Amino acid sequence: MSYTGPDFDPPPSRRFRRGPLTVALAALVPGALLGWAVYAAVGGSGDDGGDASTSAGASASASSPAPSSADASPPDEPDESDGKKPSTSPDSASGSASASSSPSASAPAGTGPLKGKVVVIDPGHNPGNFRHTAEINRQVDIGTNSKECDTTGTSTNDGFSEAKFTLDVAHRMRALLEEQGATVKLTQDDDRPFGPCIDERARIGNKAKADAVVSIHADGSGTGNRGFHVILPGPVNSGAADTRAIVEPSRELGERIAGNFVRATGNGPSNYVGGGTGLVTRKDLGGLNLSTVPKVFIECGNMRDSKDAALLTSGAWRQKAARGISEGIASFLRG
Ligand SMILES: [Zn+2]
Repeated sequence: MSYTGPDFDPPPSRRFRRGPLTVALAALVPGALLGWAVYAAVGGSGDDGGDASTSAGASASASSPAPSSADASPPDEPDESDGKKPSTSPDSASGSASASSSPSASAPAGTGPLKGKVVVIDPGHNPGNFRHTAEINRQVDIGTNSKECDTTGTSTNDGFSEAKFTLDVAHRMRALLEEQGATVKLTQDDDRPFGPCIDERARIGNKAKADAVVSIHADGSGTGNRGFHVILPGPVNSGAADTRAIVEPSRELGERIAGNFVRATGNGPSNYVGGGTGLVTRKDLGGLNLSTVPKVFIECGNMRDSKDAALLTSGAWRQKAARGISEGIASFLRG
């Protein structure tokens, strides 16, 4: 687990204990992972993302985090069933990533520390989904049950759609990971009218024999709910779904992404799911249930909260988010 390395596996409560132990630990962990420990030690940056007063650092110093709702499906839970309001207004804030024209010229193709590694990025939803409601409402088999092929995703109150957000972050990540030599594949690049369906999204990662897959999302929760969370696959063995072999590596991937996301953005974990850990385990997502390779989702923030929305609509912030996720992936792939 751990934000500190593959062999360090503290119980969740230890991550947020403040005081000498955490400070000493922070002095020892690799620099790339310091962000998380520092966040835990100081109780959050307090300015952005997951308000410190209700998130991990503030509440966990004296005891374990409050009983987590992480493993239940909370109300307003995102993702494959999250907000379904299509974006009908112009994406004025989208500011397409200049990074989208990749690969980067800074490193010759086929070189770098991630040479030979395959990363699949799954930009959640599709900007065209809202025009294809019949197609995306079709039920697909996710092993445990059936579920809609795909959803439209949510949007900010000003109409910046989650689908535009996820594509922009994916483009930025692709550039960053290709710079390090990884082979990067996107499940969709606004190059198809809708979808793909969640079962196909999983199969794309499986067929690519990806070393890591990350599905990019932003949440559509209530005002005041802030911060990111990483969704990990729970153990499922039903029908076409068998996640047992990927639960542990996916947790490792997710923890490294969470730690690097904090460090890169300066924003804290969700104040409304995950008990302040920024980690939530779910067994109801087809994109995870059907994966045979290490995979997580990340909800980068809450589009329906004005403070989080201000971050999510900022190109500079999306670059930080992409860097945090990419560095988490790179850390996982380097072992
Ligand atoms: Zn989503």
